[in-house]
Amino acid sequence: MRSVLIVGGGVIGSAAAFFLARDFGARVTVLERDPAYRTASSARSASSIRQQFSTEVNIRLSQASFAFLRRLGDELAVGAERPDIGLTERGYLYLATAAGRATLNANHGLQRRCGADVALLSPAELGARFPWLATADLAAGSLGLSGEGWFDGYGLLQAFRRKAIALGATYITANVLEVACQGVRARALTDDGQRFEADTLLLAAGAWSAPLARQLGFDLPVAARKRDVFAFTAPVALPDCPLVIDPSGVWFRPEGRGYIAGAPPRGEDRDDAPLDDIDHGLFDDVIWPRLAARVPAFEALRTTGAWAGYYEFNTFDQNGIVGALPGTGNAFVACGFSGHGIQQAPAVGRGIAELIAAGRYRTLDLSPLAPARIARGEPLVEANVI
Ligand SMILES: Cc1cc2nc3c(=O)[nH]c(=O)nc-3n(C[C@H](O)[C@H](O)[C@H](O)COP(=O)(O)OP(=O)(O)OC[C@H]3O[C@@H](n4cnc5c(N)ncnc54)[C@H](O)[C@@H]3O)c2cc1C
Repeated sequence: MRSVLIVGGGVIGSAAAFFLARDFGARVTVLERDPAYRTASSARSASSIRQQFSTEVNIRLSQASFAFLRRLGDELAVGAERPDIGLTERGYLYLATAAGRATLNANHGLQRRCGADVALLSPAELGARFPWLATADLAAGSLGLSGEGWFDGYGLLQAFRRKAIALGATYITANVLEVACQGVRARALTDDGQRFEADTLLLAAGAWSAPLARQLGFDLPVAARKRDVFAFTAPVALPDCPLVIDPSGVWFRPEGRGYIAGAPPRGEDRDDAPLDDIDHGLFDDVIWPRLAARVPAFEALRTTGAWAGYYEFNTFDQNGIVGALPGTGNAFVACGFSGHGIQQAPAVGRGIAELIAAGRYRTLDLSPLAPARIARGEPLVEANVI
C-alpha cells in the first residue's frame, strides 16, 4: 500500500486525501498547521463555479467538478450524514462592450465545443431577461444556462476532510518547516521536531507552497495576494440574478438575502498584505460606482460587511500548477489556482490522486497544468481570470 504525505489540508489537500484513500487505498497523512483554517483560502473564498474559461483544461475541470458537486451528498456521506453545501445552480453572466466582443465570441466557440451550456445574448435579449440591468454600453453578454453557480466552499473542504478521515486518512496539526525527497522516500520535518516519512509527498500548501518547493529544487511562482470581498443589501430584489462580470472587472452575485462583490485590487498587488487591511476605498471609489451604473437599483445599496483572503496567486500564468515536481521522483504539487481553485478541487483531487497512485491521468488529462511548463517558459494563457 502506497503511503502519501500531504502538506496542507485545505480543499485541495483534502480532496486529494479523499481520492487517494477511496480509489487507491493509499495510507494518507495530512499535515495541516491550522485545523481552524483561519487564513486558508478555502475558508475565505467566494466559492463560485463556472464553465466560462478560455482554455479547455479549465473548462473540463469545472465540468467534472460540477458533476461531482451535484453528487456530493452520496460521494461524501459518512454513515447517515450527507453533507449539504447549498449548491445554487445559477449562471455567470460575462458582459462585453464592443472592445471585448471578439474575445467573448472566441471563448464562446471553445466553450460550446467543450459542451458547455452557454448562450450569447444581444443587449436587447439581456434587457428582456434582466430588466434591472443597464445595457446601453454593451455589445453582448455570455450567460451560463446550467453547470455554473455557487456553494459553501468551507463546507466542501470540511466534507472532503471528514470523508477522508472516515476512509482512514490521518490529519495531524503540524507546521512543516522542511521537506526532502531522497531516493524513494519523502520526508517532512515540523517546527516542533516531528518527522514524517512516506513513499510520496504532495505539496498542497496553497499560497505558502513556494518556500517548500524551493527546498526540493523548484522555483514555484506562487505568492499570497490579498483579495477583498464586500457584502451589501439592496432595497430591490433582482430576480434570477446571476454572477455578473462587468466589463470593468467588477463582479457581483447574490449571497443569502444580499449580495457580494469584488474587483481586482487598486495599485500595487503586494505579496502577503495583512488580511485585516481591507481596502474600503476600493468599494467606495471603484466598485460602488460601477455597480450603480450597471444596476441602477444598487445606487441605494447598504454595505453589511467585508472580508479578505489570499489568492494563491500564480505570477507566471494565473492557473493551477498540478503534477510531478521536475527533478524529484516522488514529489508532487497542486497549488497556485489564482481564484479558481475551490471550483476545481474535486477534479484536481481526483487527477493528482491518479497521477500519484497510478502513474498517469485516467479520467481527465491535467498535463497542461504540469509544473514543467514553468521551467519551459510556456504559460497556459487563460483570458477569463477574475
Ligand atoms: C477572496 C477569494 C475569493 C475566491 N473566490 C473563488 C471562487 O469564486 N471560485 C473558486 O474556484 N475559487 C475562488 N477562490 C480561490 C480558492 O478559494 C482557492 O483557489 C482554494 O481555496 C485553494 O485551496 P488550497 O487548498 O490550495 O489552499 P488553502 O485553502 O489555503 O489551503 C492550504 C493549507 O495549507 C496549510 N499550510 C500552509 N503551509 C503549511 C505548512 N508549512 N505546514 C502545514 N500546513 C501548511 C494552510 O494552513 C492551509 O490550510 C477565492 C479565493 C479568495 C481568497
